[in-house]
Amino acid sequence: MLLNGKCHCGNIAFELEWGGNPAEIPARACGCSFCVKHGGVWTSNSKSRLVVAIRDTSLVSKYVFGSRTATFHVCSRCGAVPLVTSEIANHLYAVVNVNVLENVDQSWLHRATANFDGEDVESRLARRERNWIADVRIAEGAA
Ligand SMILES: [Zn+2]
Repeated sequence: MLLNGKCHCGNIAFELEWGGNPAEIPARACGCSFCVKHGGVWTSNSKSRLVVAIRDTSLVSKYVFGSRTATFHVCSRCGAVPLVTSEIANHLYAVVNVNVLENVDQSWLHRATANFDGEDVESRLARRERNWIADVRIAEGAA
């Protein structure tokens, strides 16, 4: 199933080809300090395919902190954070924010909390390689 998501103003939009049962979407409320402040709840599926369309890249703020291995893509016009990417061995991985999904039933989201504080960088990257979306395309300047 094709899931659609976008920030509030539409500057950052994506299509996620969910490889699996859409009624079984894991939704992880991340316990890191950024996600606590933003209400970040993420999903990914290693079998899915993500295409991101960014209209105006000057209105995307890329925020990194801590181990600096993840990039939060924040819309600087409306403040939503539709996705996080991580580049590992020259390959781009991503997770998307379930709060910006537009065509899912809330009952499909299987909510849980996740806290990765204390995880070392090596196991963090290995976990992302296993679990994050591995087929990611970002089209900038898309209409
Ligand atoms: Zn926006």
